[in-house]
Amino acid sequence: MAEILITHGSVITLGKDNRVILDGAVLIGGGKIIAIGKTEDVAKRPDAKGAEVIDAKGRVVMPGFICAHHHFYSTLCCGLASKPGSNFVEVLENLWWKLDRALSLEDCVVSAQIPILRAIRCGTTTIFDHHASPNAIRGSLHAIADVVRESGIRASLCYEITDRNGLDGADEGIAESRDFLAEAKADTTGRLHGLVGLHAAMTIGKSTMDKCVKLVRDTDSGFHVHVAEGQADQDDSVSKYGMRVVERLHEVGALGKKTMAIHCIHITDHEMDLLAQTGTTVVHNPQSNMNNAVGAARIIDMLKKGIRVGLGTDGMTSDMREEVRNGLWLRHHEHKDPRVGFMELATMLLKNNAAIASDAFGQTIGSLEVGGAADVIISDHIPFTPLSSDNAYGQILFGVTAAPVDTTIAAGKVLMKHKEVLTLDDEKICAHAARLAPDTWKRFAAL
Ligand SMILES: [Zn+2]
Repeated sequence: MAEILITHGSVITLGKDNRVILDGAVLIGGGKIIAIGKTEDVAKRPDAKGAEVIDAKGRVVMPGFICAHHHFYSTLCCGLASKPGSNFVEVLENLWWKLDRALSLEDCVVSAQIPILRAIRCGTTTIFDHHASPNAIRGSLHAIADVVRESGIRASLCYEITDRNGLDGADEGIAESRDFLAEAKADTTGRLHGLVGLHAAMTIGKSTMDKCVKLVRDTDSGFHVHVAEGQADQDDSVSKYGMRVVERLHEVGALGKKTMAIHCIHITDHEMDLLAQTGTTVVHNPQSNMNNAVGAARIIDMLKKGIRVGLGTDGMTSDMREEVRNGLWLRHHEHKDPRVGFMELATMLLKNNAAIASDAFGQTIGSLEVGGAADVIISDHIPFTPLSSDNAYGQILFGVTAAPVDTTIAAGKVLMKHKEVLTLDDEKICAHAARLAPDTWKRFAAL
């Protein structure tokens, strides 16, 4: 039975059909798309009777955005004074490895609520998160999953396993991951997914790596791991193991179709070949890379080699509209050629992220098609220049990205209607975070 009928939209389906339907409608029920077509046709269907009508009034109607790499736990660093790091390792030591140790379980909850709320506001309906809270490991993924359930978005969660807090800390991370993978597998909403999170090869010794590979095999899962974000990751791998990071991950059996290798900035052609041969996904995070001054990943070369490269934000934002634009400017700047990168960035955000999410959640996500997931947004972008399937990417990258989102729907449920978020209370959550943050910052300063 239909529950929602979006009418009079400029519908961009993306996906294999990549259709544009002017004065289009989308009929939704049971979390799926039931029908899609011209408003006059869809509205006449007998099963559309009684559905809640949302008039898009000419605005763009399209699939919700997908963020392929995020860190909810970074939320409480907003405004936090930390000693500036002069290189990537110092940034980790001075900021992130202190902030995560300062987090309580309650901090983890608000740290997830705020970026998820902002995701709903900017039309991001699926997020792959990588979580760390070394002094509040057990129960952290379950607590974040509760926020995901309440919010209505989809999320793939993992705990960042690492030896940097001792082998006991690593074992606790493995236990938390095992429990959450079971929880995600038992979930019936289709909105929760789990991976095995590794910080990075440089903080994982042989024994922990072996245990993690076993966990992935036992659970038929994949890894979500930072790869060669800084040169230090490669230097560590070569000095300790006599091989480069991707070679080490390949040797232990960590690469594969379910594994997400994040960043991959300092990798060689041979490492790219290994990623391509094993079907490993790479996720690019341009804003974070520029902020940390770690270099520009060779995404054009990776895409040419057939690697599925997706787009994430690395905790910088929940807004994929902002991220894709920054990714495009970085390509222009890096190649000193304004012709480079448009199709690649559009492909990463609109095609590859959709494939990554569809594979993970086992349903069609990131395109509007009958039987697919009803993750739909209405953007305030009313096309004021011709819109067709030939220029839909251009309308999205230069129109939709520059306009507010009006309505966000995930799994057939309205999460934000006409800019009012219905599932999470913005003011209550921010007030709660503001009460917690001073103590979190005190713990941070004492570390
Ligand atoms: Zn990251």
